[in-house]
Amino acid sequence: MPVKHSYKKVIEKNNYKIIHCKTCGYWHVYPMPTEEELRAYYENKYYLTLGNNHTMSDKSNDPDGFYAIQYEDRLRSIMKFISPSLPASVLDVGAGYGDFLRFMAEKGWKTQGVEPSKQAYELIHDREALGIKHGSIDNPASLNFTPASVITFNNVLEHLREPGKILKLVQDKFLISGGIIVVIIPNDFNVLQDILMKTVLKNNIEKHYYWISPPDHLNYWSVKMFKKFAGDCGFKILHCITDFPMELFPLMGEDYITHPEVGRNAHLKRVNLEKHFYQTQSHLAKDLLFKSFAQNGIGRDMQFIITPR
Ligand SMILES: [Zn+2]
Repeated sequence: MPVKHSYKKVIEKNNYKIIHCKTCGYWHVYPMPTEEELRAYYENKYYLTLGNNHTMSDKSNDPDGFYAIQYEDRLRSIMKFISPSLPASVLDVGAGYGDFLRFMAEKGWKTQGVEPSKQAYELIHDREALGIKHGSIDNPASLNFTPASVITFNNVLEHLREPGKILKLVQDKFLISGGIIVVIIPNDFNVLQDILMKTVLKNNIEKHYYWISPPDHLNYWSVKMFKKFAGDCGFKILHCITDFPMELFPLMGEDYITHPEVGRNAHLKRVNLEKHFYQTQSHLAKDLLFKSFAQNGIGRDMQFIITPR
């Protein structure tokens, strides 16, 4: 039987409706675009950005040393929640350009991954060594993966038509008993975004709900919404942390939302903060600070570690 998505609040953007769905417990596009529409969108989007792909060169070259710190932190979190008796194996859903798996392989992990974009996949020079396949996770039989101890979704769930179904599917097909799933997603509809709309962006109606970007992002969760969603999908939460609340910059006067050209500077300041913690090996202090952001519902991106209940 089809699910009935009931809602009262709705936002319209790019000719899509985004609803605060009472059935699902988070905001999502409604009705969802079809598989075909999404495929056409991603193919077209890729051609538009080809030759000007900052994300790829940034991630591969990591000029600010930002991703190296993110990956070190992610591995430390994983090690806290994985039993030493399990094999060191990771499966990355939406492997992108393979940079996270390359990091994990260098740390001695057995890696596998899947990337739906053919063009991104073909740019991964070491895709075979990293075990990365081109395909879609919702067609698991075609992927033929060995079950892994850790499955990662780095900025993936917000793009999926049926995120809950995919979480359960990977648990069922590819997660070793006792294994964990790491989910990184944006923290949206958070209190700082709300304050921004009422103050800095008050007269800038165009930029209200600036974080909403259909059909790129189809789903939007806050910390609280994702906790409930994970529970509804049959998972328990082992770990929840967010990263630096970037919204503090415009609230303090550096309005990169209205003036994107100051965004780079705000990013570099955040990187500096991370580096100072890292250089002094102050991992515990950083974890406590960033965990307190999550406890208060703020922080730009959320990292959850979940396991089947
Ligand atoms: Zn819904």
